[in-house]
Amino acid sequence: MSSEAEPTRNGSAIVNALTVDVEDYFQVSAFSARIPRADWDRLPCRVEQNIDRVLEMLSAANSRATFFTLGWVAERYPDLVRRIGAAGHEVASHGFEHRRANEQNREAFLADIRLAKAVLEDVTGNEVRGYRAPSFSVGNGNAWAFDCMTEAGYRYSSSIYPIRHDHYGVPNAPRFVHEVRPGLFEVPVATVRMFNANWPAGGGGYFRLFPYAVSRWALRRVNDVDGQPAMFYFHPWEVDPGQPRVDGVSAKARFRHYVNLGRMEGRLRKLLADFRWGRVDQVFLNGAR
Ligand SMILES: [Zn+2]
Repeated sequence: MSSEAEPTRNGSAIVNALTVDVEDYFQVSAFSARIPRADWDRLPCRVEQNIDRVLEMLSAANSRATFFTLGWVAERYPDLVRRIGAAGHEVASHGFEHRRANEQNREAFLADIRLAKAVLEDVTGNEVRGYRAPSFSVGNGNAWAFDCMTEAGYRYSSSIYPIRHDHYGVPNAPRFVHEVRPGLFEVPVATVRMFNANWPAGGGGYFRLFPYAVSRWALRRVNDVDGQPAMFYFHPWEVDPGQPRVDGVSAKARFRHYVNLGRMEGRLRKLLADFRWGRVDQVFLNGAR
């Protein structure tokens, strides 16, 4: 990477990491009690058309990203995963079937992340180096998950969100990339430090709930005040206002999933224009390919 990169509109030449969790609307953890895994094959899939729209947006912005992909998706849509890689993006792992790390024992977790890596590497023909646990489900109670990632051959993880949240998060975890095991780096989603606490700045429902200017301010603050690259994440179902509605979930889960879906695509296009974006391996692993 050039040391004389062009400054951008926010005054920062920092390249941030854009990430996409490749899963369908019926696979999110908040719906897992309502939709058994056995039903997944019977539900209308939207992931392929939604990822293709995301790929078009990234291509229009000439940006690269990392796609944390479920092994389940790669088995059913191998051509989609190949299209992701062929467009210059990094294919990484989101596990095989979206089981939270903290709801599995060590053996089951290791088997899941190994299977996902093998399936993704088989489909793309490239080494898969990154893993993101579903729902950021690694924390103080299951740090053994990092040993499993090392054992499975991963080089980095994005599995801890250093915030306070009812479903995930380790509020006192480091905010920036750090080595958690020899040769294994944890890359947390962006946060802003304010009032003695960490606040989410890197996507999720917050990005849809609050005005775009809030997210832009927060990400600029990470670049300009912390002097660090930020990691942002979103899901293909977030750009799909027409997705089938799932009944019987709590009002809170419903709100979080569906709020402002219609505004997401426009906001993402602004985000792509306002910041520089790249793949996780290129931003955080010293540009190694
Ligand atoms: Zn997920």
